[in-house]
Amino acid sequence: TYVVIENCIKCKYMDCVEVCPVDCFYEGENMLVIHPDECIDCGVCEPECPAEAIKPDTERGLEKWLELNGAMAKAW
Ligand code: SF4
Repeated sequence: TYVVIENCIKCKYMDCVEVCPVDCFYEGENMLVIHPDECIDCGVCEPECPAEAIKPDTERGLEKWLELNGAMAKAW
C-alpha cells in the first residue's frame, strides 16, 4: 500500500484523489489518508502529489504513518 505522511497536513491539494483508480483516499482530521486494504499499489498518485506526501510503505520508518492512515481511513 501507499501511505500519506506529514507533508500532507494542511496541504489540501487534491490531485492524488483525482488520479486514484480505486478512490481509496479519505479525509483524515487534518490530512488525507490512504485506506491500506483498498490501495492496489498502482503508484500513480505518488508523482501527482505537489507536497511529496505520498510514499510506498516499503520505505523505511513509515510504520507510524501506515498505522495512522489505516486508523483514519477505517474510521469512515
Ligand atoms: Fe490509489 Fe494507486 Fe495511490 Fe494506491 S497507489 S492510493 S491505488 S493511486
